[in-house]
Amino acid sequence: MAEIESFTLDHTAVLAPYVRQIGVEHGPGGGTITNFDVRLVQPNVQEIPTGGLHTLEHMLAGLLRDRIDGVIDISPFGCRTGFHLLMWGEPEIADVVAALAGSLSFIAEEAAESDIPGVSALECGNYRDHSLHSAREWAAVVLDRGISLDAFERVGV
Ligand SMILES: [Zn+2]
Repeated sequence: MAEIESFTLDHTAVLAPYVRQIGVEHGPGGGTITNFDVRLVQPNVQEIPTGGLHTLEHMLAGLLRDRIDGVIDISPFGCRTGFHLLMWGEPEIADVVAALAGSLSFIAEEAAESDIPGVSALECGNYRDHSLHSAREWAAVVLDRGISLDAFERVGV
């Protein structure tokens, strides 16, 4: 099988929350895409419940795009400790962290049910599995700990 960078990461050595650049891909027809590891909670110590993670996913899809250009996709890890973030170009980690922190601040401090996009059977594959309460709590936990610019050392927090 192909070697996957994420599986070579020592998940016991990282210090979440952090944003880490996983890799930069150059397309055969041009264009550059950067893949980020957006780790919100400590691997194998905590995990975000599915309802809260699902609501964070829906909200970050819009809130991040409002705060930084070039977002292609942000999708939760199956382990529920964070998200993959795909972006056009090679954005600075500090800019990603700033956009993420701003988005999480909105969720933790201001968000109402009406701010969650796409929560109907028409728009979502499991629309009953959302929790704004959980999303707000976990967003506050992440902000309280601070989002590091480095996965292995607490930088910028
Ligand atoms: Zn959904």
